Amino acid sequence: LLETLVDQVAIAIERTRLAADMEETRLLSETERLRAALLSSVSHDLRTPLVSIIGAASSLIEADSALGEAGRRSMAETIREEGERLNRYVQNLLDMTRLGYGALEIRQDWVEIRELVGRAARQLRRVLHRHRLRFDLPRDLPAVRGDPLLLEQVVANILDNAAKYAPPDSEIVVAAALSGHWLALSVSDFGPGIPEADRAMVFDLFYRVRAGDGQVGGTGLGLAICKGILEAHGGRIRAEAVNPDGSGTRVVVELPLAADPPVELAGE
Ligand code: ADP
Repeated sequence: LLETLVDQVAIAIERTRLAADMEETRLLSETERLRAALLSSVSHDLRTPLVSIIGAASSLIEADSALGEAGRRSMAETIREEGERLNRYVQNLLDMTRLGYGALEIRQDWVEIRELVGRAARQLRRVLHRHRLRFDLPRDLPAVRGDPLLLEQVVANILDNAAKYAPPDSEIVVAAALSGHWLALSVSDFGPGIPEADRAMVFDLFYRVRAGDGQVGGTGLGLAICKGILEAHGGRIRAEAVNPDGSGTRVVVELPLAADPPVELAGE
C-alpha cells in the first residue's frame, strides 16, 4: 500500500512538473503580466494539495504504528482526495493552455445530458458527499453535440464550486430544461451567493470574489475554463442568485440544440 501511495505522490509531482513545463513553453504569446500571474498562481495552487499529500504520506511512513487502522485510512483518503483535486486542476490547466493557444480540439459527439451529469457527479462523489444532491433531469431531453470529456469537466467545475462554497448538508440541485433553441443545464446551491457586481466577472481568468480571505482555497481558473469550453461549443454560461436576497448561486449553462437529434437518443 505504502509503495503505491508513494508512487502516486511521485506521479503527482511529475504531473506538476509537466504542467509547469507546458506553461513555460506554450504561453510565450501571452502578455508578460498574464504569464507572471499565471505562473505564481499555478505554483501556489499546486503546492497546497502537494503539501497535504506529502504530509499524509510522511505520517503513514513515519508514524504508521501510532496511527491505528482509522488513522491510516484517513491519511490514505487525504492522499487520494488531494491527488484527485490535483488531477482536476492539472486538467483545467492543460485545457486552459490549449484554449489560449487555440489548440483545444472539440469533438462533435452526441452527448446525453443525464449521462453527462451522472459522470461528473461520480467523478466528484468524494467532494459532494457532504451535500444533498438532487437531480431534476427530464428523461426526454434531446442529446446535444459536443465533446463529452470537456462538457463533463464544465459540469464538474460547477459542482465542485457548489460543494466548496455552500455549507455542508445543504442541497445542490442539478436541473435541465429546454429553452428555445437551447438546452439549459443549471446547478443551484444554497450558499452565500455571488455579489451582483461580481457575477459577470467570475468567468474571467483568476477572478475570485473573496480572494485572500483564506477561508476557501481556489484558483480562479474553473469558471474561466467553463466559459472557454462553452464558447468553443457555441454555448454560453451565466450566474444568477437563487433567492431574492441575493443568496444562493445558480450557474446556468446553455448549449445549442442540434438540428437533427439522432433517432435512437431522442425520446428515450
Ligand atoms: P475558484 O477556484 O476560486 O473557485 P472559479 O473560477 O471556479 O475559481 O470561481 C471564481 C470565483 O467565483 C470564486 O473564487 C468564488 O468567489 C465565486 N464562486 C464560484 N462559484 C460559486 C458558488 N457556487 N458560490 C459562491 N461563490 C462562487
